[in-house]
Parts: sequence; C-alpha cells; structure tokens
Amino acid sequence: MASIDAALSSAACSSVTPAAAVPAVHSPAPAPAPRIRRNSTSIQSVTTKAKKGPFTCSESDIEDIGSFASTSRKKSREDDTLLHRFRSKRGLFVTDITRTEWCEKQMEFSLFSEEWKNHEAKPDLAFVYGGGSRKSKAMRAGIDRHAQLEREVLESMEVNVSSREDIMALKLVNFINGVNQLLFEGLTRELPIISFDFAQGIWIVGKIDEIWMSNAKNDHNPVLVEIKTRYRDTVPAESQKRNGRIQLMCYKYLWDNLVAHADHDFPSKQLFDYFELNPRRFLCKDLQTACVDSGISASRLSDLVVCYQNTCKMLSPASDKLVLRYESQRDQSVLEEEEFMYDDGWIKNEIRSCVEFWTGQREASYVDEEEEWKCGFCDFVSQCPAYTDDSESTETISEDDDSSEG
Ligand code: SF4
Repeated sequence: MASIDAALSSAACSSVTPAAAVPAVHSPAPAPAPRIRRNSTSIQSVTTKAKKGPFTCSESDIEDIGSFASTSRKKSREDDTLLHRFRSKRGLFVTDITRTEWCEKQMEFSLFSEEWKNHEAKPDLAFVYGGGSRKSKAMRAGIDRHAQLEREVLESMEVNVSSREDIMALKLVNFINGVNQLLFEGLTRELPIISFDFAQGIWIVGKIDEIWMSNAKNDHNPVLVEIKTRYRDTVPAESQKRNGRIQLMCYKYLWDNLVAHADHDFPSKQLFDYFELNPRRFLCKDLQTACVDSGISASRLSDLVVCYQNTCKMLSPASDKLVLRYESQRDQSVLEEEEFMYDDGWIKNEIRSCVEFWTGQREASYVDEEEEWKCGFCDFVSQCPAYTDDSESTETISEDDDSSEG
C-alpha cells in the first residue's frame, strides 16, 4: 500500500515544534478478507473505502497544536495550573496520568526541567521510569518495535500540513480509518484517541497500541491491548504493572466516553474551543486528497468532526477485558500476557486524583514509603526534599521498560 509521510509545508508552520514537522498518514497494509462487517447507516464516507484505514501521526501529536496559537485574554488563576501551563490546547496525555501516578513530584520536576523543555522528542516518548528524558537503549528498542508492529498493519503516507486544524484533522482521519480497519479486518494498531472527560471537564488524548475484535459471535466489544517491550527477559515490578493497568483502563474510559456521547451531546464545540480550532477552515490539499482516497467526504475541519462523531456512533463500548502484553526485545517472545478486568470506579478515582494535582487543587505528593526504591532511579533525587537514601530497594525496576506508549 502507498505510504504518506507528512511535512509541514508553509511559513505559517514556523512555530511548530520539530516533532510536529513530521506527521504521517498511514494506510492499512494489505490484509486478509474482512472478518467483521458492521452495518453503517450513518457514515457513507468511511464505510465505502475501509481498506484505506487509519491515518496516524508517527511523531506529531495533539500536543503540537498548542504551539500555533497564543491568547490575549486576561490571566486567571487557572492559567497558573500545570494543566494550563503545559497542556493548554493540547489535552492531558494518558501517559501524563500514568506518570503522575508513578510519582507526582517527579512529574512536576519533569515538567519544569530544562531537559524536558528542550527535548526534541515527543514528551511521552521521552519518559523513563526514573524521571529522566534520556532515551535509553531499551527505549529506542521499544520505539523501534512499536514502529515495526505499526508497519505490520499500516503503511505511512506523507502529507503536508499547514495549520493546527490540519494536525487535528490528521488525527481524526487516522482515527476514522483505524476504526474502519478494526471493523472490517478485526485489528488495528496505534489508534489515536481524543476524548472529552465529561466528569473532569478536560480533554485527554492518547494512542492505543492495539485493538482487536473477538471472533466470538455477537461479541462486538473491541479488546484494547497495551504492549510493553522489555530489555531483559523479566516480568516487571508490580508498580509498573499497576501503571500499565491504569494506562489501559484510561483508554477504555476514553473510548467508552466517546461511544456514550456519540449520539447526543458530542462535544464538538468543546473541541473547537479548547484546541482553538476554526471549524470552517479548509483542510490542506494533501489532507483533502487523503480524505478522498479514504472515502471520507470532508473539505473542512467541521466536516471531519461530523465524520468522527459518526464513526463513534458505530462503535460498541470496549471490552471489560483488557490485555497487557510484555514481550522481550531480544527475540520478541511474549514474557507475560496479563488479562484483567476494567474497574470503572477505580480508574475514575485515579483520574480525579490526577486532575486535582494538574489543576492545582493540591500540592504534588511523593512516593509512598514502600515505593521509595523508585527514588533510586529518579533523575531529580538531588533536588527532591522527600528523598532519603536509607530506603531499601524491595522491588527491582526495569530501566529496560520501553515506556513508548501514547
Ligand atoms: S526522588 Fe522520589 S519522591 Fe522525589 S521526585 Fe524522585 S521519585 Fe519522586
């Protein structure tokens, strides 16, 4: 299948971060005959050419959008929050939530560190369990593996984008095509998700490693999978497993939110407002072509948001069963595959607690006493008022975990 890799094309993009300069549009690789077919009464544009599947941005993310715009409104208390300062017009990443759960103080240090600000990679790829933004050998291997997994089902196609509306559009097209691939072929990978958390009133964004449909008759609930690669052939510490579970539960929470609000109160206006997007802006030429190739009828961003909503209408809630897979970087063998059940109350609590920190409702907390071993792997240990070096490590952390999640 053809490949589209994108580059920002105009002077208007001069303020875009380097990461934003290489968005990519992906098409599904050749695949066997569709295993799943669903009736679609509402989306003519996406059902006609489902083989032209998801569009993914390999490096750019919604976070890149923020650099395009500035506001002149009066400064408010909200402006002082971490959420506004670091995630304004970007949304909170799912990895922000998992990193916050790891250690809020480390998250805070990371946000403010020069190393963080100047890092050329996307923030969520720059994180290591330990607080640094250095890309370890294990992380690079993890990123390469994820790229390989992506290439197995998707082929990238290059497009030139010229505005933050285009970058958002790219995400939406990629989501639409990814969902089509899922419904027609039974599997998709690296699916970008942008979802409004009605309970917290914030946008949360992420990228789901893998989604598949069950072969069981009458089971229309997609199964969400997170893949972690391991430098050493060991299973991770319990804290890392918990972190992975939170990540997957977040994805299900976001997915189900999209589905639940697809028919009625779909938050289109909130989307345009929060990300400061002009719904009437025409998509760039390359994106319009990509839409046509994918069977999507859209010339403006608002058209795409309607298609996004219609795509969500076709979906069922994600399965309560979630899959966390650990595989060896050495030979890609599966070290462990954990299946666990979604816990709605628990994840809502985790997100609420995280948002309290991000919105300044409370100070950053430190690691629990029994998890002080984390400090031994933290780049900010010399600055951290909570750290004492007499703690005994009771758990072994993997510097070798890839952490290359969305
Ligand atoms: S030293 Fe420990 S408590 Fe302090 S930021 Fe690092 S991990 Fe958190």
